[in-house]
Amino acid sequence: STQIQLVNRPVGWPTADDFRTVTVEYGDLAPGQVRVVNEFVSVDPYMRGRMIDTRSYIPPFALDATMTGGAVGRVVETTVDELPVGTLVSHQYGWRDVVQEDADGFRALPEPPANAASSVYLGVLGMTGLTAYVGLLTIARMQPGDTVFISGAAGAVGTAAGQIAQLKGAKRVIGSAGTPEKVALLTERYGYDAAFDYKDDRSIREQLRDAAPDGIDVYFDNVGGEHLEAALDSFNDGGRAALCGAIAQYNSTTRTPGPSNMANIITRGLTLTGFTIGHYFDQAPAFRGEMGQWFADGKVVHDETVVDGIENSVDAFLGLMRGENVGKMVVRTGS
Ligand code: NDP
Repeated sequence: STQIQLVNRPVGWPTADDFRTVTVEYGDLAPGQVRVVNEFVSVDPYMRGRMIDTRSYIPPFALDATMTGGAVGRVVETTVDELPVGTLVSHQYGWRDVVQEDADGFRALPEPPANAASSVYLGVLGMTGLTAYVGLLTIARMQPGDTVFISGAAGAVGTAAGQIAQLKGAKRVIGSAGTPEKVALLTERYGYDAAFDYKDDRSIREQLRDAAPDGIDVYFDNVGGEHLEAALDSFNDGGRAALCGAIAQYNSTTRTPGPSNMANIITRGLTLTGFTIGHYFDQAPAFRGEMGQWFADGKVVHDETVVDGIENSVDAFLGLMRGENVGKMVVRTGS
């Protein structure tokens, strides 16, 4: 098995030297174990937080050990009746092409829909889709008729969130992303009513105000920083934000200043709620039902950016942080 380990805790942007690739030989299966060949391994922004040793909602990656994360694969050898050879499974033994562990670490999946690869279970029908669904509907309590602003709109969570907002009857959905190509995709492919490039010379605050002349009711924040400040300026009374991520600061080496306009939370009666999806897995069945149906009916589109080869996982992760992906970034192991 080819596996990727963390060897240093990166300061600022991680580099190739912070990781190493190792080969692990597995022995015969012990009772209760299965061996799984991964098809797709997920790289996700939250993994940057796990590379440092700080208090968080999930423990840091151990140094000199194989990293973990979402993955989908197929059982190739088994000792348990529940997971016969050939079963498609999801699990948390990412950053490697083959894994051998106790069966209870794996969950059987249905075969993917005809027009999709098993990577959909890492993206639009998996963790990032669920994050969009819960963040929008449960955390921000989006209602039909709301005007919704979503940052990081062309990524995995953002592309799902924009479409869910439209399917749930939003009046107007606005997105921001980091290239003109992504901005065009937002309105042409993902059903956004308006979109802008946050790297443009005009400030985010000004561009959001133009895109939402009547203000916003919901903000789905994937980015933090200047985006959050702009949203606080555009909020209508009673507005609600789901604070999902703050990717603008994940590689920064200084503390990010807070928004200068926090007082708007008071004067406009705003609610800003942070969440991590691990506390909302009880909503996965509802999500799978509703999103699965939308997907089957062709009401939801998705994109994936696929990097080939487990040995290129670090490049895939860094590419994700740099914005090289549209939709979900995944590594195809090619085992
Ligand atoms: P994405 O697919 O959105 O990929 C990350 C994107 O972030 C890049 O494509 C890039 O797009 C954008 N980005 C990078 N740097 C910046 C910056 N400085 N300012 C603005 N945008 C930037 O990743 P995910 O969909 O997996 O995750 C999106 C967000 O949701 C992340 O913040 C992540 O941490 C969070 N998240 C939170 C969860 C939770 O439980 N709370 C669960 C899953 C994700 P661009 O080209 O537009 O800059």
